[in-house]
Amino acid sequence: GDILKKRKIAVLGARSVGKSSLVIQFIENHFVESYYPTIEATFQKSVNYNGIEYDCDIIDTAGQDEYSILNSKHAIGIHGYVLVYSVTSRNSFDMIQIVYDKIISYCGTNDIPCVIVGSKTDLQTRQVKPNEGEDLAKVNKAAWVETSAKNDVNVGKVFELCLAEIEKRAPAGSNE
Ligand code: GDP
Repeated sequence: GDILKKRKIAVLGARSVGKSSLVIQFIENHFVESYYPTIEATFQKSVNYNGIEYDCDIIDTAGQDEYSILNSKHAIGIHGYVLVYSVTSRNSFDMIQIVYDKIISYCGTNDIPCVIVGSKTDLQTRQVKPNEGEDLAKVNKAAWVETSAKNDVNVGKVFELCLAEIEKRAPAGSNE
């Protein structure tokens, strides 16, 4: 159809959880073994979801810790959030609630379109069980999925879920 909706999605999470790898797998369909993302980058992709063409801006953020991970610019003009932890890192998982709470306080609302992502499921050194991720998402009314950017598992699903969460709260047909 002729409907084309702009959607800005910010990808946040601790250092090295695989944010860039996830975004690059989604945008360019390949896995980068080592990538040094010291700067923030925005990627564009048009995504057809539910018969609607979404013009997505995906912002791969470069925060390093719980203090720099999110700044107020990530609360302005962002439609949806992808919060990434690695299933191999308990610390990165613990960071999710902190980041979520910061977004909530920056946005001044308690209901944000959000997908919580457990990355690197191809690795055997798991520290976070699937049900822990699921429970965290439930408590925060977020969607949840586990991925492997390396094996291209559920990568597209992350962004579909995010569009779905945005859609639930601000339907593309609505006039916003
Ligand atoms: P970022 O700092 O969150 O953007 O993390 P990167 O995307 O730079 O990834 C950090 C490291 O984890 C890199 O060496 C990636 O190759 C690796 N990595 C990212 N995603 C995966 C994955 O799905 N599986 C495996 N095995 N390694 C991954």
